[in-house]
Amino acid sequence: MILCCQRDSFKTEFTTKVKSCKEVAASIPVGGKKETIQAYEVLLEDSVLFPEGGGQPSDHGWIDEEEVLVIERRGEDVVHTMKKPFSVGQDVKQKVDWDLRFDRMQQHTGQHLITAIADKQFKYSTTSWWLGDKVCHIELESASGNVMTDAEMKDLERVVNEKIREATPISVNVYEEGDPHLTTVRTRGLPDGFKGPVRVVTITGVEDNMCCGTHLKHLGQLQAIKLLSVERGKARGGKPNRSFFLYFLAGGRVLSRLDESLQRESQLTALLKNSPADHVDLVDKLQKSYKQCSKNLQSVLRNVAVMEAEKFKVLEPKPKFYSLHRKEAEPDFMSVFLTEVGSQDTLFFLSVGDPNGSGNMILFGDSKILEKLGPIVCEILGGKGAGKGQRFQAKVSNLKRRPDAEAAIEQFLTTPVTDANEL
Ligand SMILES: [Zn+2]
Repeated sequence: MILCCQRDSFKTEFTTKVKSCKEVAASIPVGGKKETIQAYEVLLEDSVLFPEGGGQPSDHGWIDEEEVLVIERRGEDVVHTMKKPFSVGQDVKQKVDWDLRFDRMQQHTGQHLITAIADKQFKYSTTSWWLGDKVCHIELESASGNVMTDAEMKDLERVVNEKIREATPISVNVYEEGDPHLTTVRTRGLPDGFKGPVRVVTITGVEDNMCCGTHLKHLGQLQAIKLLSVERGKARGGKPNRSFFLYFLAGGRVLSRLDESLQRESQLTALLKNSPADHVDLVDKLQKSYKQCSKNLQSVLRNVAVMEAEKFKVLEPKPKFYSLHRKEAEPDFMSVFLTEVGSQDTLFFLSVGDPNGSGNMILFGDSKILEKLGPIVCEILGGKGAGKGQRFQAKVSNLKRRPDAEAAIEQFLTTPVTDANEL
């Protein structure tokens, strides 16, 4: 059966009769998951709400102001899953979520146009396509396995937009199954068990395509197509993938993306205090300058580590335990310090990183002491680490508890050792 939404894809409201209404346990999508609820499957004599097909997702809409939870085609019928029941024979008014439908018609018709021109002029055939919430893509391949070049993509974009400017008409004709004309049109094959009349969508002078979806009336309603990028398909089962994905925006999405880009550009202009034409140069300079500053900082911190080691070396007598933290430093700081200090009887507790958050620490000293002390300090500072020889190092998540770790080390070192062999 050809549905009302297929006969007139620009119809937004439609009055029809309830054919049947059955109470069921229905699985409906809720926030990305499926939930089973008690609901009613309502069949109408006809429907202006489009069920999924031709790569186009099902509509969103209402029956008598009640939201339809799921719209799906089952054989000849469109099943509307509703929260409340309807009486058989009752007149009901369907309403289409028009903004969503029109966007999808633009993406869907855009895909028809890109697929047809990519095939006719560039010899890339379409194997599938995806209508995403933000961006759509078409999976294409060529006999040679080549991926579309940037120049071809620009050329394809130019040709499809030329067709849009010409406002080429789009028509839908219905043929009986077995009509010889059907052998001349593009198709990915009819669904298994398909019966009844076949719809052929014709973009005049561009293509004939078997499709059950909803389409624009002429290409002018597409407004524009922007081809975004090409990405080679990932290898499948160890075999190289010959296909590639062509990402595109059609219609209102071109303007929405432009709007987003302009907003981002104006935020960058405010941050960089420069004109958009200079953004790239300025960010490039900032990145280089940041790299240089970072290099300089590391160099200065290495010098600080050497000076900190000098400060320790002049201490007399040497303490049993020495603690040092540097918030700006990298782990390298601790290694430089230890190398400069050399072999000592002192136990060192060194750390770097956010004093209220995460960082790195090293305990350096007698390996037998570290075997016991390492895990204790790790637990206090919320970290994971390992020891080797005189060094126990760890990544820690809570440097705020550094004073507690210091106290624990002090206590450990001052507790009389009862079994000398143990340490
Ligand atoms: Zn279509």
